[in-house]
Amino acid sequence: MTKCDYPIEVRTHTALHVVKGAVVRVLGEDAMWTAATYVSGRHGRLTVKFTRKPTREEVEAIEALANQAVSKDLPVEVLVLPRREAEERFGNIIYDLFPVPSTVNTLSIVVIRDVDGSIWNINACNKEHTQSTACIGAIRIGKIRFRKSKQLLEIPFDLED
Ligand SMILES: [Zn+2]
Repeated sequence: MTKCDYPIEVRTHTALHVVKGAVVRVLGEDAMWTAATYVSGRHGRLTVKFTRKPTREEVEAIEALANQAVSKDLPVEVLVLPRREAEERFGNIIYDLFPVPSTVNTLSIVVIRDVDGSIWNINACNKEHTQSTACIGAIRIGKIRFRKSKQLLEIPFDLED
């Protein structure tokens, strides 16, 4: 198996983590809560809580930053930790809006660090991931949709080869 020989949906899922990191970097902490994710083939969609529709420049910046993270070949680290320890160490940044059931006592924490050591994205997630961001390939952000009544921002993307 070569380094990046993953099913396409593993790559697309890993891209969700990279896109989320770019979204928070561009739109700020207000966009830190993931409300939903969707993956089908090379198409993915990240839905976050947010207060407004981003500008075209912001969307372009999200796409550019996500692709920078891919080109930096950042390692995708998975830490398996007791839930309590994970919460003490990282706080609620590991969680999404959809809760992890209270019966779960061990968490898989997926951490992507930028080259300077800062956290690009951190999330409790028990799905399969590529071992580094380069395996994802190019990410093209699609047409953003803001659902004002629900304060939800939908960010679709596709992986290109
Ligand atoms: Zn994941």
